[in-house]
Amino acid sequence: MSRVYNFSAGPSAFPESVLQQAQQEMLEWRDSGMSVMEMSHRGKHFSIIAEALESDLRELLAIPANYKVLFLQGGASAQFSLIPQNLLNGKSKASYIKTGAWSEKAISDAQVYCDVQVSASSEGSKFTTIPDSAGWQIDEQSAYLHYTSNETIHGVEFSDVPDSKGLPLVCDMSSNILSRSIDVSRYGLIYSGAQKNMGPAGVTIVIVRDDLLGHAPKTVPPVFNYAEQAENGSMLNTPATYNWYLTGLVLQWLKAQGGVAAIEQRNIAKSAKLYQAIDKSSLYQNPVDLPFRSRMNVPFILANTELDKAFIAASEANGLFELKGHRSVGGMRASIYNAMPEAGVQALIDFMAEFERTH
Ligand SMILES: *Cc1c(COP(=O)(O)O)cnc(C)c1O
Repeated sequence: MSRVYNFSAGPSAFPESVLQQAQQEMLEWRDSGMSVMEMSHRGKHFSIIAEALESDLRELLAIPANYKVLFLQGGASAQFSLIPQNLLNGKSKASYIKTGAWSEKAISDAQVYCDVQVSASSEGSKFTTIPDSAGWQIDEQSAYLHYTSNETIHGVEFSDVPDSKGLPLVCDMSSNILSRSIDVSRYGLIYSGAQKNMGPAGVTIVIVRDDLLGHAPKTVPPVFNYAEQAENGSMLNTPATYNWYLTGLVLQWLKAQGGVAAIEQRNIAKSAKLYQAIDKSSLYQNPVDLPFRSRMNVPFILANTELDKAFIAASEANGLFELKGHRSVGGMRASIYNAMPEAGVQALIDFMAEFERTH
């Protein structure tokens, strides 16, 4: 067996020790006599898994008691439509910051339900920066302000929490949750698919402040109603049990790594090293404004795009996979989430230098 360094944007690399633990527990979880996949979601064994999942996430992110944590399905994409339905609370407007492909998608899906005010946009710069918050036009009549803390495709990341001028702040953290310390109390709602930095595809977490719950109209299906899922421990229907279990293992791994603050230091070091290698080369280039360069997704282009194919082929021959950039921006992209070891980033840097030397 030869496992490669996997730079995929998502689903993405898992900590190897988590995969090994899942393998060991595949046929029988503890003394339950069965696999996690075969357990009743309401049974005593799965209850242990579900309770640990929530309490570990609460501990890692220091989630205050007045927030509910939901584990849902449908990905972050479902949330693009569910957030306006659950949070508008009789209002007709919501404000959005447009900083890349994912916030653009959130905007277009929300437009079905409300009048979307785009408070700021970096589309003019081809999404290579974050517009200065001093110039944001935030409509006070909005039900909330939405932003995407890390644009997975464009490699643009907010360096701090924006001022929402008193509106509930809603954030898509799909690709940088658990990668850096956050102050949950600054937010009304945080959502994230698991498959970038937290677990397998098929789990979506929603962290929502109590006072925002219970305002969804009756037309919202119960499984998509935050208040109803909160009252039912996210088990209004059968949850994605095995995915909850795997997500729980990733959280335990992260705790063993020293938690979010410790992994953040490693993420800073890994990304700084890679950007430094890109900046000092004459073959590779990253177009994003320095303060907003993502620590998680590092896109770069080759000065000569005719070398793209050769770069991909040679990288794979060196055990470095999934470096092709998103089709909308081209070039390359290295996603270096929590589970990517420093050795993987170093192997990429060494390969890039060697490729530049020989081309
Ligand atoms: C991947 C991603 C999504 C979409 O997630 P799905 O689980 O496929 O719906 C949304 N937002 C961001 C920032 C992402 O990285």
